[in-house]
Amino acid sequence: MKHSYEHYLSQTAKELQPSGIRKFFDLAASMEGVISLGVGEPDFITPWSIREATILSLEQGFTSYTANAGLLELREEITFYLKNRFGVQYDPNNQIIVTIGASQAIDLAFRAILNQGDEVLIVEPAFVSYAPLVAIAGGTPVAVSTSPVNGFKVTAEQIEDAITERTKAILLCSPNNPTGSMLTKNELIEVAEVIKKHDLIVVSDEIYAELSYDEEFCSIAAIDGMYERTILINGFSKGFAMTGWRLGFLASPTEFFEVMLKIHQYTTMCAPNMVQRGAIEALRNTYPEVESMRNSYRRRRNYVVQTLNQIGLDCHTPGGAFYVFPSIRATGLSSEQFAEELLMQEKVAVVPGHVFGESGEGYIRCSYATSMAQLQEALKRMQRFIESKGVFADS
Ligand code: PMP
Repeated sequence: MKHSYEHYLSQTAKELQPSGIRKFFDLAASMEGVISLGVGEPDFITPWSIREATILSLEQGFTSYTANAGLLELREEITFYLKNRFGVQYDPNNQIIVTIGASQAIDLAFRAILNQGDEVLIVEPAFVSYAPLVAIAGGTPVAVSTSPVNGFKVTAEQIEDAITERTKAILLCSPNNPTGSMLTKNELIEVAEVIKKHDLIVVSDEIYAELSYDEEFCSIAAIDGMYERTILINGFSKGFAMTGWRLGFLASPTEFFEVMLKIHQYTTMCAPNMVQRGAIEALRNTYPEVESMRNSYRRRRNYVVQTLNQIGLDCHTPGGAFYVFPSIRATGLSSEQFAEELLMQEKVAVVPGHVFGESGEGYIRCSYATSMAQLQEALKRMQRFIESKGVFADS
């Protein structure tokens, strides 16, 4: 007898769309000889001293739960880091929560602030998790579209146009996934004016803060009048090459902290003890490694942007993260067709832009967090592919 599970399942959960990125991973994984520019993670292994500190902590038997908010020693390191690096001051005792990646931090932030029907502005193209996490928390995601005209940077005016009486918060991610665009301090000041005027909260995803190449990264929490209304999210995955460790953190005014901590203690208890000990080492002693990874990404960014433009795919120069977001309109293909045909014809995996929101249609996301040799080969194959579609390199 066929049993229907429909009535068992949550309506909200049923309505969630599976991530469009996964489909290409699965397809690429089933083929041989594929060069993947699809994954959003560093190609570096975590610096050795972090691994060593974690191994040592296991040898010493640090296998118990920690405080719900995380080890105080780590929270103290996080506050030093935020102060020294970005000039924002938090109290380790009642303003920092150590989370399972930035992913859990985003989830906690939305659960803590949203009531049914509250609207959250999401600057698109955007990381795929934001809208589903808003929906899971009972909110309504509202897209604010950006375009390459101004390097995919959101403007104060675009934000103002999207605000309604239901708007509660805005999610900002700079440097951005998938476009790599990064707001300068002056641009953030303009955006902050609208946010203050309309009394919104900012959920600021700063996971790529360490990967900014041309300008000093500025946290929106450091801008006048914004600290009180910002939930700052960061983590170790990208800058410290620690994706698999699953460690991130939240920094916010105590009023947000208390509510988020309540949810965190029931859903998660705490982040893993030994991983937190590795993170202490990351913040204390690995700046040279972080710097050298940043320099390596910068070199690759420069090469990839230049080559894409040469072969006929328009590509703005992103200020941070490790993605480029070239236009594929010259080929006449949709971004889905482009990604599918490129994979089948030339065995290069990229992500079609539409998975990051409607305004991503006409673009593809390529990660350059892979070796120079692989990038060179991938771009050669891409050139051959677009020539087969009638697009030729500038001579
Ligand atoms: N935010 C953005 C913008 C991301 O790109 C990612 C990872 N791809 C995350 C958050 C999640 O990071 P974490 O590994 O810390 O959960």
